Amino acid sequence: MISFRKIFGMGGHVVTRIAPSPTGALHIGTARSALFNYLYAKKYNGRFILRIEDTDRKRSRKEYEKDILSGLAWLNLTYDELYRQSERTAIYAPYIKQLLRENKAFVSKEKSTHDSSVEVEVIRLRNPGKHITFFDEIRGEVTFDTRELGDFVIARSNTEPLYHLAVVIDDHEMGVTHIIRGEDHISNTPRQILIQEALGISRPVYAHIPLILASDRSKLSKRKGGAEVAEYREKGYLPAALVNYLALLGWNPGTEREIFSLDELVDSFSLSHVQKSGAIFSEEKLQWFNREHFRRLSSSEKVNLLSTVFDGKKTEEIVHIVPIIDERFDGLQNLAHAVRDGEYEYFFSAPSVDENVLPGKSGTLEDARGHLQKLVQLLESTSDFSAEGVKDTVWEYASEKGRGEVLWPMRYALSGKEKSPDPFTIASIIGKEETLKRLRRAAAL
Ligand code: GLU
Repeated sequence: MISFRKIFGMGGHVVTRIAPSPTGALHIGTARSALFNYLYAKKYNGRFILRIEDTDRKRSRKEYEKDILSGLAWLNLTYDELYRQSERTAIYAPYIKQLLRENKAFVSKEKSTHDSSVEVEVIRLRNPGKHITFFDEIRGEVTFDTRELGDFVIARSNTEPLYHLAVVIDDHEMGVTHIIRGEDHISNTPRQILIQEALGISRPVYAHIPLILASDRSKLSKRKGGAEVAEYREKGYLPAALVNYLALLGWNPGTEREIFSLDELVDSFSLSHVQKSGAIFSEEKLQWFNREHFRRLSSSEKVNLLSTVFDGKKTEEIVHIVPIIDERFDGLQNLAHAVRDGEYEYFFSAPSVDENVLPGKSGTLEDARGHLQKLVQLLESTSDFSAEGVKDTVWEYASEKGRGEVLWPMRYALSGKEKSPDPFTIASIIGKEETLKRLRRAAAL
């Protein structure tokens, strides 16, 4: 049983946050943490905060911050509040002063780690050196011996807290009730709890989620590619597909169901169904989600999306080829390449056909011409030009004469390609008039 207090924290409302450092572009793992925090907050009508942890002036860059903001916006993970630690320096001073005044921290003069001839001042926490036990929503009870941490450094000055102190103060100031973050942060938690205890502030609920791994079970890294959200955006993945897949990397709904919209994820999400072990990222699986999400778009959404790829084509023309794209959608970038290579051109204008290819492997040109003439006759008198209708019209003749001998020339006459969808589908898309025109033209070769 999860207690009321655990779900709602002290203030009665769930507040979650994602706290990326802008020292790199938006990582897939950070996006997944953002998603889990978003889902949890929305599920309990709480708030989801984005906090840019840019205290490391040297490594933080505005361009990375921009990438993080635009990546989250693209994924539709809207936050309720945005903060930058660099704009909050005044907030930290009273807390640091309190620690010094209460002798929970002390100023220490030390040799600089960069240059041992320089003396610097740092502020260290007086570590009581005890065991810290906390309950992790995913991993259960976790205990650390904090003696080995020593009196660790928490600030450079009254206005320059280091990571652990800044996180603790900010989470407290922002009323964060639940800290849902990557498992790589689990060893930071005892330090942060020691600081909370020294400041006398309450402990949030912790949930450390399993890492996302590459197929060889190593950490998903920038070096290997595929670790940044922007790459998937550029490849033309649908944000809804990436969100859906990320949700299932480490979480499961407890059923076989796989396809979820963001709102459906909000309804279904729970920390109790987050697994402990690492989750392996597979681009193949993501592609499957992409196709499924494409299929579920409304017709007008599909046409809008496709018109960005089928440059200069009319909406009425694009509408017709949607069923084809439904079958083979493998991302907008691949589709754009295929379109540029002319792979879909025969849906819009008659292809050139080669008399050597027309008969296919088994027949002669003479036979192929005869079959095409017969097909023209059969199709002239049919009014049902759906793929099924076209198939019904020609099937008996093709079965009698040999399907390969009849249907290959038919398909090739319509597409001008050795590989293409079946001739019934093509005929239904280009329509009766154009189908007859192409069949007649090939029959006259
Ligand atoms: N700023 C930290 C990071 O980017 C995250 C801090 C936290 O989630 O507690 O890894």
